[in-house]
Amino acid sequence: MFEIDVTGREVLITGVDEATTGQVAALLRDGAHVTVAAEQLPTSLVDLVERGLVTHDVDPQGSYDLVIAPPPRRPTAATEPEQAGGSGRVTLVGGGPGDPGLITVAGLAALREADVVVTDRLAPLELLAGLPASVEVIDVAKIPRGEQTSQERINQVLVEQAGLGKHVVRFKGGDPYVFGRGGEEVLALSAAGIPVRVVPGVTSSIAAPELAGIPVTHRGLTQGFTVVSGHVPPGDPRSTVDWSALAHSGTTLVVLMGVHTLHRICTGLVEHGMDPATPAATIADAGLASQQVVRATLADLPRIVKEAGIGSPAVTVIGAVAGEHLPGTGDLADQGLVR
Ligand code: SAH
Repeated sequence: MFEIDVTGREVLITGVDEATTGQVAALLRDGAHVTVAAEQLPTSLVDLVERGLVTHDVDPQGSYDLVIAPPPRRPTAATEPEQAGGSGRVTLVGGGPGDPGLITVAGLAALREADVVVTDRLAPLELLAGLPASVEVIDVAKIPRGEQTSQERINQVLVEQAGLGKHVVRFKGGDPYVFGRGGEEVLALSAAGIPVRVVPGVTSSIAAPELAGIPVTHRGLTQGFTVVSGHVPPGDPRSTVDWSALAHSGTTLVVLMGVHTLHRICTGLVEHGMDPATPAATIADAGLASQQVVRATLADLPRIVKEAGIGSPAVTVIGAVAGEHLPGTGDLADQGLVR
């Protein structure tokens, strides 16, 4: 999105406004090193800082190749809802795993018609940079073990904003119904009498392995795949997953939200009889410039993931397919498919 080549350049952003998160995401994709100097950051930017992708420095002393100062605050009167009162609605948009090329045509169209965008941290944030200046962006990201907006508060924001007669886009990573709590939002909106529509998205449970060259099914190797949350690992009394059955399922296993618990998951699967030599891979930041892929056996994966310093968000894929090395779809921008 930037006309100048920022690859390897030091870029300082001196303040934060609605467009900043999207700009930062675009700068990262273009290979810039980004420092943000504002005191208060929206949660999605805090997340990028915690993932080591952005520097937060309120008193930067270094020298920078490019300094970006957000324009003076826009008058809020510009945010006129399309029709005042009564006609508000919400569209839940699955944004895909993070590459702006992986949102659907319907999702992008909804985003372009939004009065307000209520965003998560794992949505393709670069797309926020292209929104008209009148669009309000509300950041309700949830950082695992970090800053959180409660689901109740998110539901309330959606109801309140739609109640003002606005078209609200609830912008999510992946697909809204795959561990995205989209169902709860739809129920809350329906209970409040607000029209709601869902645009499916490309889920990271399939796309992250695919971007790393791993097909979740492959003829001759596996006849299916099972997607589970690793949030609650084997042996935890809160778990409702039959990990023993998974160890014997013969399907590819795809684990989301399982970086923190990876050791317990892999050990648990081996204890339940899965071959410790089973191929496995962890893909972090799939579809972003910071994408990282680690491949190992089931037994070795937790150690190697730890050594590689991999954190959330990451998807782990376990099964014969994890030994495949198909050409990764990679970054669609590299292939000239998106700009
Ligand atoms: N609705 C989302 C999943 C939300 S749960 C979807 O369909 O993809 C959040 C988890 O999704 C993360 O902890 C991680 O396991 C996975 N995830 C989301 N985006 C990812 C990405 N770009 N790279 C790797 N994993 C990702």
